[in-house]
Amino acid sequence: MVNCSKCGSELSEDTQYCPICGEQQFPDEPEEVPELPMKWYRFVIHFQLFAAALFSAANALNFFSGRVFGITNRDGLKAVYRVYPELQPIAVITGILYILAGLFALYVRKQLAEYRKDAPMLYIISLGVSILPYLVFTIGESVVTGSSLGDIPGYAAVVIVLVMLYANHLYFSKRKHLFVN
Ligand SMILES: [Zn+2]
Repeated sequence: MVNCSKCGSELSEDTQYCPICGEQQFPDEPEEVPELPMKWYRFVIHFQLFAAALFSAANALNFFSGRVFGITNRDGLKAVYRVYPELQPIAVITGILYILAGLFALYVRKQLAEYRKDAPMLYIISLGVSILPYLVFTIGESVVTGSSLGDIPGYAAVVIVLVMLYANHLYFSKRKHLFVN
């Protein structure tokens, strides 16, 4: 409901003239939208997502090579895989997931840079995806070896990603109108 600007009678939204006093009604001026700072957006498309892709590639190599187990020689690694044969496919799957996460980061970067409509949502998904290989490996390793689930740096990474998810959700909901392509 709106009220007549002269006599204050209740009018329906689209009325042009007040039926009581005849005053012409003007719709509210659209509010000036202040220009939003875009520093974080620029950081994300020019640096962060490239870094995420590189980080994923490096992680993939660590898992494919078995370096993630802290063993640098081939025989040592073979010995580990003899004791826990399931660790090898888990490491390979984790490496593949890291490759996919890296490619996804590059795809999302392109969508964001082109102001695609779904880009902010894809970016938030990519943040979640970035932690997925770690989760798969941690759970797999724990099941296979009976070791405790995860470690402090891993938990910290999960918390950081959750905070990033929330902060970016807020950041990009305020800028939704910019992503129209
Ligand atoms: Zn009126």
